[in-house]
Amino acid sequence: MKPYNFVPILGAKTYIKSPDVKSGKLRISIEVVTPVHIFSGYYNENGNMVYKEFVKYNGKYIIPGSSLKGCVRTIAESVSRSCISTSQNLYKIGKNVRDRNDCIICDMFGSLGKKSRLRFADLELVKNNGVDIINIPTFYGPRPENENYYAADGKFKGIKFYSHGDENIIEKGTMPCEFVMPGSIFEGNVFYEDLDDNQLDLLCFSLGLGGDIYLKLGYGKPAYYGSVKMRSIDDKIDASKRASRYGMNDNDVAKNVKRLKELLSWDKRHTKSVWRTVNNQRGY
Ligand SMILES: [Zn+2]
Repeated sequence: MKPYNFVPILGAKTYIKSPDVKSGKLRISIEVVTPVHIFSGYYNENGNMVYKEFVKYNGKYIIPGSSLKGCVRTIAESVSRSCISTSQNLYKIGKNVRDRNDCIICDMFGSLGKKSRLRFADLELVKNNGVDIINIPTFYGPRPENENYYAADGKFKGIKFYSHGDENIIEKGTMPCEFVMPGSIFEGNVFYEDLDDNQLDLLCFSLGLGGDIYLKLGYGKPAYYGSVKMRSIDDKIDASKRASRYGMNDNDVAKNVKRLKELLSWDKRHTKSVWRTVNNQRGY
């Protein structure tokens, strides 16, 4: 058993957009459920231990909007008739995915030559429930940008999502990183411009605002780090209802929504690690 699974790609389709569009902002909160580390690019010292620092702005912990946007885009791609993020993938995926940059995702998130209708502002830490240095496993290290679209043998299986797991099964290793601990809360805004109702539903679903999926952010996803619970605040568009109804008018989309919910719902989290010890080393 692996700590991840796949959602099959539906294939790209030209998106027919409703002329009835909306603009506005969603204010969201992100509650840390298993420890989260987003690398700032800087190292710090604690005694003689050198650790990777959590990203900060003006000395305050933040989740960069770009981190959340990447995660939300991948979810949205997995439950829509989308081409996928980069042209590099298209050669590998083959003929049933064409990139004409006119799918629902390109219209929402942007693509080459097309501006994004979404702006994810940085999220600020509004409740600090503790910060800790945790040594995490290193062997999975940095991966190629599009690694999450492919199985280990290079054969295309779909979009990869890592399983959630209880806080007490997070895997430890030798690389010290600064983590924001469970119970902490970040808040921030997502601005949207000229989205039709179906796109707004997809955005709410992919942000996890239906409450049925948790997202994963930052380092150590295979080792059960980075699980977060999403909520909308000051909700003026009924985000939870929109998230819940997304995909209901398209059987194939509904199938992928169901599959994704099985992979990312907190109820389906692992309560025992699927990692094993082989030759004195933990791995999966
Ligand atoms: Zn596209």
